[in-house]
Amino acid sequence: MTRPERPKMQYPISHEPELARPDKVAEGVYRCRIPLEFGPPYINSWLLEEEDGWTVVDTGMGTRISSDAWRDVFKNFFGDKPVNRVIVTHMHPDHIGLAGWICRKWDIPLHMSQVEYLTARTLVADTHHDVPDEALNFIRAAAYTEEQMDSYRAIFGKFGSFIRALPHAFTRLRDGDRLTIGGVEWIVVIGRGHSPEHACLHCPEKNLFISGDQILPEISSNISVWPTEPEANPLEDWLESCEMLKNYLPENVLVLPAHGNPFIGARERLAYMISDHQENLEKLLELCRTPVRVPDCFTTLFKREITGGKLNLAAGETLAHLNFLIHQGQVIRETDDKGVNLYRRAD
Ligand SMILES: [Zn+2]
Repeated sequence: MTRPERPKMQYPISHEPELARPDKVAEGVYRCRIPLEFGPPYINSWLLEEEDGWTVVDTGMGTRISSDAWRDVFKNFFGDKPVNRVIVTHMHPDHIGLAGWICRKWDIPLHMSQVEYLTARTLVADTHHDVPDEALNFIRAAAYTEEQMDSYRAIFGKFGSFIRALPHAFTRLRDGDRLTIGGVEWIVVIGRGHSPEHACLHCPEKNLFISGDQILPEISSNISVWPTEPEANPLEDWLESCEMLKNYLPENVLVLPAHGNPFIGARERLAYMISDHQENLEKLLELCRTPVRVPDCFTTLFKREITGGKLNLAAGETLAHLNFLIHQGQVIRETDDKGVNLYRRAD
């Protein structure tokens, strides 16, 4: 298979706005960078102007640094205009973290897909609980050392600490729904793999696509298997979504991502992401000529040693690739007498 060149995307908006200073990208559409406590340095929240208020898409984490930025925006940019609704693309803390806080402040509804909302509620309910046996068995099977298992215990259930209390009701977004915001139609487009039912928003009239984490210009979105569903095949969902978007999106649509700068070249970027995963799958299949454990795959997949806080994401991403190959019938999984999984080629 020949691999597409690393895509050359166009970045038509050349300047990078300051944090919490909304920057117009199209009539009635603003990019607002909200700083994050950790991970990527900021998230792009998208502000859609309506006659009588604002729609906010994605919110930042439920921490002080993000909420202070919003207070600044409310006071200095929104002025007298209220927020009319909050849309959250998916349940990760940098997107949903302040959704409840903003909804309560303005007494407005939270719009999300059903699986994202319910999953967020479930994960938040696990906060500060002990690690369940299912999770310990999961990381043992992924060949975590005793020391790594202790580190896992120490951080388990932190998910909810970065999310302010969620509203107890929500308004459901479904694939194909059409929302009228600021006099134009935005179509909900659901993607899967990075999270279970990720909502993107497409505005054909303005030729804009709010992509959340479903298409990012520079970094590749994490595709992981989690202890709640050890047999999951999120990479298949991801590749299917990439194909769907590649066929659906116009060549010249301006993509408004959650991290990084707005860009043109969605189809090339999607083709590159697909080929990147396929290349990794081929390398992994080659590696499985002799039985391997999860950490034995790290240097092949990530081209470096994995240490500390990166371990959980790396193990999850490795399992996403291995589970894909198992579902395809190309790899077989066996468990040794210590509960550690070994993966080998089926032929
Ligand atoms: Zn995400």
